[in-house]
Amino acid sequence: MRQSSLKSKKNPPDNRINALNSEKPIRIAIAGNPNAGKTSIFNDLTGTVQSVGNYPGVTVEIKKGKTNWKGVELDIIDLPGTYSLMPFSQEEIVARNYIINEKPDVVINVVDASNLERNLYLTVQLMEMGTPLVLCVNMIDVAEKKGFNIDVQKLSRLMGIQVVKTIGNKNKGIDDLLDACLEVAKNKYIPRTVTYGHVVENEVMVLAQNISDDPDIKKELLQNHQSRWLAVKLIENDPEVTNLIGKISKNSTELFKVVQNSVKKIDDHYNESTNTIISERRYGYASGAVKSVVKVTETSRQDMTNKIDSFICNKFLGPLILVFVVFSLFTAVFKISDEWKWVFGFSPTEVIEWFFHGISNLIHPLSYSMPVLHSLINDGIIAGVGSVLSFVPMIGVMFLFIALLEDWGYVARVAFILDRLLKIFGLQGKSILALILAGGLGAGGCAVPGIMATRTLREEKDRLITILVTPFMNCGAKMPAYFMLIAAFFSDSKALMLFILWLISWFMALFAAIILRKFLFKGEQTPFIMELPPYHTPTLKGVLLHTKERLWSYMKKAGTIILGVNLILWFLMYFPGISEDKLTFYEKKIEYYRNLSDEKTMLSIKNELTREKLLNSFAGKAGELLAPVSRLAGFDWETNIALIGGFAAKEVIVSTFGTAYSMGRLDPEKSENISDRLKNDPEWNKIKAFALMIFILIYAPCFATLAVIRKETGTWKWAAFSTIYSTSLAFLAAFLIYQLGSLFV
Ligand code: GDP
Ligand code: MG
Repeated sequence: MRQSSLKSKKNPPDNRINALNSEKPIRIAIAGNPNAGKTSIFNDLTGTVQSVGNYPGVTVEIKKGKTNWKGVELDIIDLPGTYSLMPFSQEEIVARNYIINEKPDVVINVVDASNLERNLYLTVQLMEMGTPLVLCVNMIDVAEKKGFNIDVQKLSRLMGIQVVKTIGNKNKGIDDLLDACLEVAKNKYIPRTVTYGHVVENEVMVLAQNISDDPDIKKELLQNHQSRWLAVKLIENDPEVTNLIGKISKNSTELFKVVQNSVKKIDDHYNESTNTIISERRYGYASGAVKSVVKVTETSRQDMTNKIDSFICNKFLGPLILVFVVFSLFTAVFKISDEWKWVFGFSPTEVIEWFFHGISNLIHPLSYSMPVLHSLINDGIIAGVGSVLSFVPMIGVMFLFIALLEDWGYVARVAFILDRLLKIFGLQGKSILALILAGGLGAGGCAVPGIMATRTLREEKDRLITILVTPFMNCGAKMPAYFMLIAAFFSDSKALMLFILWLISWFMALFAAIILRKFLFKGEQTPFIMELPPYHTPTLKGVLLHTKERLWSYMKKAGTIILGVNLILWFLMYFPGISEDKLTFYEKKIEYYRNLSDEKTMLSIKNELTREKLLNSFAGKAGELLAPVSRLAGFDWETNIALIGGFAAKEVIVSTFGTAYSMGRLDPEKSENISDRLKNDPEWNKIKAFALMIFILIYAPCFATLAVIRKETGTWKWAAFSTIYSTSLAFLAAFLIYQLGSLFV
């Protein structure tokens, strides 16, 4: 009977006797939108409809059939056509419950190739359920007539599922479809996870954890359902899942409170219902997939998002627009935070700097009565907190603009545009966000938010590589050190010098990415779909909330870490200091010249004292200890102290350099700034300065960055690795520049 239903065409020359095959038949369900061609495919597979009935209790028709392929028995069922798997119509409920409760070995999702984007919405929902899936791209003939060329191999790689082309009414592609079903039944491919953007993802993560922790749910539901899927359904307020969990779990009231809280957070953030956001993400996924795999020979784009995308994601226009947007962004950031004096005649950065300056003046009297305490407060605490907080306006404005672009939907496009380019270097489009945030498009970034932004990268290898190369970008904290050295030695070509440093930072990041991918994180890059959710007018509330969260997290992290480090550094530069006898000797000398009113000599002795103190501090000793090695790259012991300080925070380099380097060399007749002093120092030259800038560009990430690397990777291993490899690279580069450069000068 079974044999008679098979078309001879599909019967392979394989004479294994089915009776001997003791395995259970493979159960296959066919799902898809109405009119996608499910019944045609079903008929192609089974030959004839073998039984028609109704699902118990509902009037939805059910068709079941059997077939045999390569000696394996297949039970096939044609599910009712649906556009979605929300349990709102009888068809949807039947289809969804069948997949959940009967757990077919394979679900064939028939999609209409000529209407791919819309059909993939259901596919995304099937993927979310984690069902083993074969995507049957049907009506290929119609699609080709419309000018659509679909790259199914790419689609298969992107979604992590088997994809087959068919023409249902002509019985074409059915062999491939059957092969794919066997393959999936054997190997249990699980589709890739679909994500909903980090706001929703954060909530899903929390909820999924709560669900896994619930003993009742664990016992009753987690065999058949993934906790992630249940979490998404609860957030969507899916009536079936919500009722079910309400019945099963004793703790459901508390769980629902968590759900409500999550939903409120998401609603508040987007000022839009959570359901809308999630379904937009699904459309975004489908839309991104179509944009990646369908070549259109005749354009037939209609809606607004597509119209805007045809400019913004355009191969040639896209990158140009991107450069323009980013350039405007950075210009605006500098103008608003520091150049425009819009707060009572001052810029926000000035206001903060003046505030700390004021406190510093206020505690000045302490320096006579309690010099150690004064130095601790002034050099340790105020300098540290002040340097962090003086960056708050810049970083705040930057976060604000990035949040705007993100919520509007542009950041997703940036990743889309650059994906192809970055792939060459072993990175992917989403890595660009991290590099931009870290200062990749000029100045003023920070690796801390950059590395946090790698959370959007799902693939662990891609993420690690991005984390390890992000610190090479020229962050805002490196800028003062560049400015100092450029002003001293390259004042006639300032912009060019900065441009060169910018190029080198990108070169380093991309070069390191290739090397890391080659040697440390071998293997294929996993392709995935770049989601393109529809554009959205950002809400003020959402953007402000976003900015506030990030800014606060920056202030907290950087604030505590830099403060701590500054205290340690202060300690290392202050203690043990010189002996009492020596101190008294210097003080007497100073007193002597003061009485003579010889200001010059007095000042120079004061400076000598400071230098002597520093040389006798732990930091000074360390600087001296390193000098024999560091001299190979042109760095003297004073520079070493500054660079050691820079391990903690790059902001520290200039301030430490000022203290460590210039003290004691100051010519009291001229009041020079540090740049002029360096320029007039016979031991310094352009080559030394350039080698130092390159060293600063490349060497170890600051402590705040290391802490974030540790947090994001879960181990100190990568933080340590990052420090060692970049410092080694930095030293090598500085060494080569200094040694080779010295040959020519
Ligand atoms: P269902 O609603 O998903 O079960 O879709 P059907 O199998 O009933 O097909 C709907 C219509 O599309 C029928 O007229 C089929 O003959 C036609 N059809 C199915 N597959 C193809 C195909 O690949 N190409 C073309 N041109 N028509 C198809
Ligand atoms: Mg049908």
